[in-house]
Amino acid sequence: MNLQGKTVLITGASRGIGRAIALKLATAGGNIAFTYLGSSQAEIKETEDALQQLDIKVKGFYSDASDFSSTEQVINDVVQEFGSLDILVNNAGITRDNLLLRMTEQDWYDVLNVNLNAAFNTVKASIKTFLKQRSGSIINISSIVGIRGNAGQANYAASKAGIIGFTKSIALELGSRNIRANVIAPGFIVTDMTNHLTESLQETWKKTIPLNRVGLPEDVANCALFLASDLSSYITGQVIQVDGGLLT
Ligand code: NAD
Repeated sequence: MNLQGKTVLITGASRGIGRAIALKLATAGGNIAFTYLGSSQAEIKETEDALQQLDIKVKGFYSDASDFSSTEQVINDVVQEFGSLDILVNNAGITRDNLLLRMTEQDWYDVLNVNLNAAFNTVKASIKTFLKQRSGSIINISSIVGIRGNAGQANYAASKAGIIGFTKSIALELGSRNIRANVIAPGFIVTDMTNHLTESLQETWKKTIPLNRVGLPEDVANCALFLASDLSSYITGQVIQVDGGLLT
């Protein structure tokens, strides 16, 4: 699982799952570029400080992953400053939960823009570099909700299902050039995204998890490290659930 000399770009890595992936891949020797938006200065500093403890190159970019041209700019800057781009992790994500009856048009578009369009933006901007290198690993973070659906999350489920279709398609298009694309579908992971759920809802979720515990950001990061590394060099177009067996 050695990522020495590899350049990793992770969207939305100032906290939660993105931060855990950044730290895990950095511990394996990867140089880390990451984006963030809507995070506190304290969160960003904590991520940067933790990464800078490791003997790697690190740079954070304030950038909206749903914006096509600023994403293109970030990717050009990363390739320029780091000299390559080897691993792309589309992690940035938001929720705007509501029953469809009450969901606004804005709630729908905000979630689709950040969770799905952002993945198009990063892949589109990285593809020339991957093709030139004849290598690349794309890891897109979906959710078990994208497989199963979830009441109150029609926008989120649609965006996460879209990620799966998008990833499988690019895996088919790019496989012959040694560019791999896979999906991680986490279950219930303890982060800011799930902390706002009521205690009783969290308890209900926990009771249905066969491994009898909630997931940690590091559980997802371990899977990301495997998909980033050469240990998964014959794996592409797959969806790996990291959910403690929740959706089985
Ligand atoms: P989080 O809210 O803790 O972190 C979200 C991150 O995304 C932050 O770093 C934030 O800065 C960044 N971000 C938000 N909008 C952005 C934008 N427009 N551009 C760039 N960055 C942006 O959430 P999390 O739980 O760590 O979620 C990470 C990913 O995992 C998301 O895609 C989420 O949908 C997915 N996921 C989470 C869970 C869970 O239970 N927590 C389950 C399944 C999937």
